Amino acid sequence: MRTGIVFHPKYLEHEQSPTHPERRERLAYTLDQLIEEGIFDIDRIMMIQPRKASLDEILEVHEPEYIEFLKKESEKGGIIDYDTNIPVGVFETAILSAGGALKAAEIVADGLVRNAFAMIRPPGHHAKPYTGAGFCYLNNMAIMVKFLQKKGFERVLILDWDAHHGDGTQEIFYEDDSVLFISTHQMPLYPGTGYPDETGKGKGEGYTINIPLPPGTSDEEYLLVFDTIIEPVAKEFDPDFIAVSAGQDNHFTDPITDLALTARGYGELMKRAVNLAEKLCNGRIVAILEGGYSVEHALPYTNLAIISALADLDLDFIREPESYLSQLRWRKRSYAAEKVRDNIREVKSLHSRYWRSLRTDG
Ligand SMILES: [Zn+2]
Repeated sequence: MRTGIVFHPKYLEHEQSPTHPERRERLAYTLDQLIEEGIFDIDRIMMIQPRKASLDEILEVHEPEYIEFLKKESEKGGIIDYDTNIPVGVFETAILSAGGALKAAEIVADGLVRNAFAMIRPPGHHAKPYTGAGFCYLNNMAIMVKFLQKKGFERVLILDWDAHHGDGTQEIFYEDDSVLFISTHQMPLYPGTGYPDETGKGKGEGYTINIPLPPGTSDEEYLLVFDTIIEPVAKEFDPDFIAVSAGQDNHFTDPITDLALTARGYGELMKRAVNLAEKLCNGRIVAILEGGYSVEHALPYTNLAIISALADLDLDFIREPESYLSQLRWRKRSYAAEKVRDNIREVKSLHSRYWRSLRTDG
């Protein structure tokens, strides 16, 4: 069983501004940590170079007018929204980032590795067909899923556990019954969507499942959501491929969110997702990096946890930044557990008409 890590030094170049949360150090520090832990010395872990996404592959998701705009603005610099400007040259990095996701899918689909982590940036899950948004330019996840479907993996489960709702990905597959989109995200938080009653439309009705989480949600509740909603529905959907929008901004040290997941918690979550893939689709799972802005104190550890779970390494060595344990205690909220249970009940009641597996107990 081999695990691929897709990475390119060009992912360290993109920068909106030195103080922007989505900055180059996100991956620079991670890389240092992975080297320090000897991850690349492990035989079953392979470092893989990305390729560029082709225009045709991008146009499966995005509108030609937007791509033309992005390409043109990228030559001189421009702006999409308050959070998302267009630095010179971002188009080239964005197609290499989307291509990183494609490469990860390719090596898993072709059996070169069992599973893979696309350690890419810029991220993608807020990007919509007609615009970028929220630090995202191209929807890497959606471009990858369309590619997989062309390769014959028709039914794809997208698990988006970034702290922010993956509104772009949701919109792209909202009327599609071949893609099951399940998102956990903090609420309230940007972009303000992701309510449980957003369940899909037309033949896609029931194939969008939103599970909002209150500030202070910690490991136990994440795992409860996984066990009570994600796992049963995933089994019932029976995907050919699992794709994870792995946002690492749920960590208790993240500066722009209020959740309380630990690095070890990330490892446990990813392990469950890997086990699901082993049971349902011959182990085929790709994780794509989305957010995660605790650049120094969390992202290197959470990325390490994701890789360790994919590569079936012992998770015992995954640690938290020690001096931050008091911060974890401060971030955790006693009311969160109860609120998460309420939200689980609400999601189950809304979705029990679509999913038999959610009809039992309360
Ligand atoms: Zn995020």
